[in-house]
Amino acid sequence: MQLIFLGPPGAGKGTQAKIFLDRSGIVQISTGDILRAAVSNGTDLGKQAKAFMDKGELVPDSVVIGIIEQRIQETDCKKGFVLDGFPRTIEQAEALDAILAKLNIALNHVVNFEVPDEELVQRLMGRAAQEGRSDDNPESIKNRLQIFKDKTQPLIRYYEGKAILRHINGTGSTAEIAEKVKTVVGV
Ligand code: AMP
Repeated sequence: MQLIFLGPPGAGKGTQAKIFLDRSGIVQISTGDILRAAVSNGTDLGKQAKAFMDKGELVPDSVVIGIIEQRIQETDCKKGFVLDGFPRTIEQAEALDAILAKLNIALNHVVNFEVPDEELVQRLMGRAAQEGRSDDNPESIKNRLQIFKDKTQPLIRYYEGKAILRHINGTGSTAEIAEKVKTVVGV
C-alpha cells in the first residue's frame, strides 16, 4: 500500500507515519528526515539543502524528486510506503505520478491532516523547545506555514481530482488521530 500524508508543518504527519509503520510494517519516507540526516552528515546534499531549510524555504524540486525516486526503489519499500512531507508542490506531485507510473506502482490514499493555524504554531514552538530543530523558530515557522498555503495546499485539489483524497481532523490525542487514520486507510 502506498500512501501520502499531506498537511502543514506540525500537523502530526511524522508521528502518525511512525505509528502506522509499527502497526503495518509499511515504511515511512520523510524527505525532511533524509535532508536533516544529510545536513548533519555534512554531505553535498546537506550543504545544498541547509540554507533553504534554516529559512523555512523549500529545497528545490529537482533535489527532493531525485531523493524520492531513489528511495522508493529500495527493497524495504516493496511492501509499500508512506510519504511524509513529499510531495509539497504540484511539480513534485506530477513527478511522483510519472515515477510511480514508470515503476507500475499505484497510489492508494492521500490522507490530508487538517489542523488550525494557531494550534500548529503552538505545536511547532513546543517542538522547538523539545527537539531544538533549527527551523522551529518564529520567523521560519511563519514562512513554512505561508509556503504551505501557497505551494502545498493546491495539492488538495490535485488529489481530489484523482479521488484518492481522505480528510482527517488532525486535532485531538495522538491515539485518537491514529484511529482516524486506521478508519480512512482500512489498515
Ligand atoms: P519537514 O521535516 O517535512 O517539516 O521538512 C523540513 C524542511 O526540509 C522543510 O522546511 C524544507 O526546507 C525541507 N523539505 C522537506 N521536504 C521537502 C520537500 N518535499 N520539498 C522541498 N523541501 C522539503
